[in-house]
Formats: sequence, C-alpha cells, structure tokens
Amino acid sequence: MRIPGVRDDFPRPAPAPGLCELRFENRFVDELPGDPERRNAPRPVRNACYTLVDPTPVRSPRLLAWADAAGELLGIARPASPEGPEAQVLSGSRVLPGMRPYAARYGGHQFGHWAGQLGDGRAITLAEVEAPDGSRHELQLKGAGVTPDSRSADGRAVLRSSVREYLCSEAMHWLGVPSTRALSLAATGEPVERDMFYDGNPQVEPGAVVCRVAPSFVRFGNFEILAAQEESELLRRLADFVIRTQFPALAGGGEVSPAARADWFEAVCRRTADMMVAWMRVGFVHGVMNTDNMSILGLTIDYGPYGWLEGYDLQWTPNTTDLPGRRYCYGNQPYIAQWNLARLANALYPLFEDTAPLEHGLRAFAQVFEQGSMRMLADKLGLSSIDREGDEALVRELFELLQASETDMTIFFRSLAGVPVQGEDAHLLGPMAGAFYDAHALGGAHGARLAGWLRRFGERARAQGLPDAERRARMNRVNPKYVLRNYLAQQAIDALAAGDASVLERLMRVLSRPYDEQPQHEDLAARRPEWARHRAGCSALSCSS
Ligand code: AMP
Ligand code: MG
Repeated sequence: MRIPGVRDDFPRPAPAPGLCELRFENRFVDELPGDPERRNAPRPVRNACYTLVDPTPVRSPRLLAWADAAGELLGIARPASPEGPEAQVLSGSRVLPGMRPYAARYGGHQFGHWAGQLGDGRAITLAEVEAPDGSRHELQLKGAGVTPDSRSADGRAVLRSSVREYLCSEAMHWLGVPSTRALSLAATGEPVERDMFYDGNPQVEPGAVVCRVAPSFVRFGNFEILAAQEESELLRRLADFVIRTQFPALAGGGEVSPAARADWFEAVCRRTADMMVAWMRVGFVHGVMNTDNMSILGLTIDYGPYGWLEGYDLQWTPNTTDLPGRRYCYGNQPYIAQWNLARLANALYPLFEDTAPLEHGLRAFAQVFEQGSMRMLADKLGLSSIDREGDEALVRELFELLQASETDMTIFFRSLAGVPVQGEDAHLLGPMAGAFYDAHALGGAHGARLAGWLRRFGERARAQGLPDAERRARMNRVNPKYVLRNYLAQQAIDALAAGDASVLERLMRVLSRPYDEQPQHEDLAARRPEWARHRAGCSALSCSS
C-alpha cells in the first residue's frame, strides 16, 4: 500500500539474514596451534590452545528464548520457528558449514589454589561472526556435551542454571556492566542428573544450552596453564594473538612489541577495575571469582551461583560452597580481582622477564578502582564529587547505616533521589519506607539516625547548587530501579519448567530498561518477599549446574 505523502523509493535496509545464512570465521583456530590429538575423552592437553571438538547432538532441540538485543547486535533475524534449523545449531545438534568448533585449553586458581588443567569442559565455541557494525563476536554453546576437559562430568547444563546465565548476561549489559552476552536458550529434551545440595540426593532435571556471545572467551587461566606447563612460545603467541585481535590499537598493525605487551597488561588491569566498580555499583556478587572465570577483556563471565545484594551486606556471598571463608563475598570482590590479576602477572612474567611493567599494571588497577569508586559513589549520591570537608564522613556513615539494619541496597539508592533536601523527619524518611526488611526500622533510634543523615545529605546536595530535578535525573541514571533479584530468576525458571515462557519474557523486557520507571511492573522492583529468604535458588546457591 502507498501511504500518501510518504516516498516509497528510499533504499530499504536489507532484511537481516538468518543464523544459517551467516558467513563464519575462526581466527582462534586458524591462527593458533591446536591439539594434534582429536580423541574426545578426558585427558591432559599439551602444546595447544584448544582442541577441535564438535558439540554432541541432543534428542529434541527446541528454542525456549531468543534475546532480540543480542540478535540485533549480530544482525541475525529472529528464528521463524522454535524447532527450525536455528534450534538445531543452537543446541549443538548441527554444525554449519564454515564453523570450526573448539574447546579452549585453560587452567586456573580455584578458591586460592592452583587447580591445574580445567578448560572448556562443557562449553564449545562454534565460530566467529562479523556484526553489521564491524565488530566480531564468538558464538559459544554452554552445555554442549563432553570435551577432553570434561573430567568426570557430563558436559551438560541444567535448565535452571542456563536460564540464570541467559537472563543475567543480558541484564548486566542493560545495566551498563561489561558482560558476555546471551543470544538464545535451547532445551535439549534430555534429562541431566544433578546433586543440587551435594547431599547425596541427585535429581533429574531438564537439560538446556545457552548460546553465549563475546568478542573473546579467553580467560586469565588460558595464560596460566601455558606458564604452568612452561610452554613459553605458545604463551607469547596467545598473548600476541589476543593483543592483535582484541586490542588492535595497542598492536599498531605489525609485530607486537614488548611495549605493546606492557600496555596490554595495564589495559587488562584497567578494564578489570572498571568491571569491579560496576559490580559494586549495582550490588552484583559473582560468587566464583576463580582465575578461570576472569575474562581477559574485563567482561563478567561464567554466571554460576551469582547473586544480587538485597540486604546491603559486605560479607554476603550467594555461593554455599564459599560460605566457610566468604572469599568471594560482595565486599571482597575488588581485592580478589587484584589477587587474580597478580596470578595473571605471574603467568605473563616470561613475556617480560622484568617485574616493572607488571607492577605498573597492578598499580593501575588500584588507582582506577579507587578513582572509579569515588566517582561512582558521587554519582550514586547525585554529587558532582566527593571532595569537600565532611564528605568522607557522610559516605562512611551512610555505609554504617546500610549495614546496621537490613536495608535493600537497590531500593535505598533509588529512593534517595526522591528524598526532599529539607523538611520534617517524617518527610525525609517517607520515600525510604520501602527499603527496609525490618518493619520497625524507621521507628526507633535507627530512623532518627537515618533522618539525621538525610538532613545532612540534603544540605550537601543543596550546597552544590545543581537544580534538584537535574540531580534526581542523574541519580536515576546510575541507581537502577530493576535488578535481577534472585527470587525473580527462580520464578522465571519455575514457570519455564512448567512450560510457561511469559514470566521469563516479561522479566527480560523489564530488565532491558533498568533505569526507567515502569509503573505497570512495580512488583518486580519490590523487596524480596519473606518466603524467598531461605528458599533454594532464591538466596543462596550451590555450584551445581
Ligand atoms: P565453572 O564452575 O562452571 O566455572 O566450571 C569450572 C570447570 O569445571 C570448567 O573447566 C568447566 O568446564 C568444568 N565443568 C563444570 N561443569 C561441568 C560439566 N557439567 N561437565 C563438564 N565440565 C564441567
Ligand atoms: Mg568457569
């Protein structure tokens, strides 16, 4: 139909191709040495960066979810049917022409100890695609079957952990936190057995595969294994490959120089620091910050027993395996990141044979984290900076208050924008009412102390002379209204397991605009309900996935 007054001779953008029509590249495989052995059984891998291995086909592939935003990034059309050829590919049942699937070789420090060879035990990278904007991304299936790195495990993933990875990858992206992305979630139609509580009661659960997307899935551990096995030539080749393909501005086109390698390590430290500032800003706790779960690109990677702070608590860890030492609790994360970077520095030492560039990078981490944290705190409070007399005391007391009575971190900061800069105590406290898990928190001494703090905060905000509406808008741009609360993810899992994808779809839609008010979805911004406090999956999680 011709619409009057609208020209119809504009060149129209070509419709996006389907996944099966894409052209695939495989630079990791083409440019780095692979395992000469192809036998797909648990075994040590030596003198290689990867093993070529195909995903294991599954019984009944079916797409359960497709992330439109990731599809748009890659320029891939949404599949027409949940059981079409895309479901075959994205569940690992079919390898397309041009793809050279591989499992990467890596090691890692787990809970502070060297664990030797780990590697992609259930993740298989299919290929790389060039997006319409010229960026390149690898497609990786998680839960795609056994590889030489599977050890005694099955190479599979269960639906619950796959939904959690799918949701959180995209939620983090929308929050502005560097993360690997998720394109799709596919059911395998095959059962997977897991002992969720490690108590000798394994259950059969539905299996699933997530297709993850990232420019590279290289981890600190890819370098650590080469250093541990004294494969120095390969270590250099992997480093130079990562620098050339992922940090081209540093490589400068030709041979990678020692100076470029030093700049690269510093860049990794800086990116990791930025990621830590972002996690602390939104209250994300990774739960398993082993060096094999640290991306060389500074992306959040490997969503396992992660969680979101509800009650603000520096000591909180979502991972039941981490409970004895709380190594990976919220407040420890920046220190662990730096510890992990020090492990990476040790692994890279043979490239430099000098500690100075590595020490320089580690110092850059500390500086970037410290400056970034001050900037982030100022932003969260709507202040142009935290540098006036009394500011540090104001911030210190705020965090003491947050720990003193169980306070929902997300709701607290979001509500702070709505507090008037002067008025009676009741007016100051009114907007904060939804943030406390103790119904009487605002009644007694705590309420009086908080009102005192809000009064001083209001005076400080007034003193900077920024129009109030502008200050509030700024705060709402960094303090999310919607985060992936653990019980919300669990509700999406329960519904999907019962055949209802609408809960997951609604959550994805709402989380794609985490800083916007969405009045019809207010329920998703509420405090965690009491029933969820101790329910499995809603607060603490095990590594079993
Ligand atoms: P993760 O805790 O998921 O980061 O995994 C740690 C290591 O265990 C990695 O080498 C994984 O590939 C491997 N792994 C975890 N789950 C499985 C599984 N079900 N099958 C094979 N390998 C696994
Ligand atoms: Mg991992």
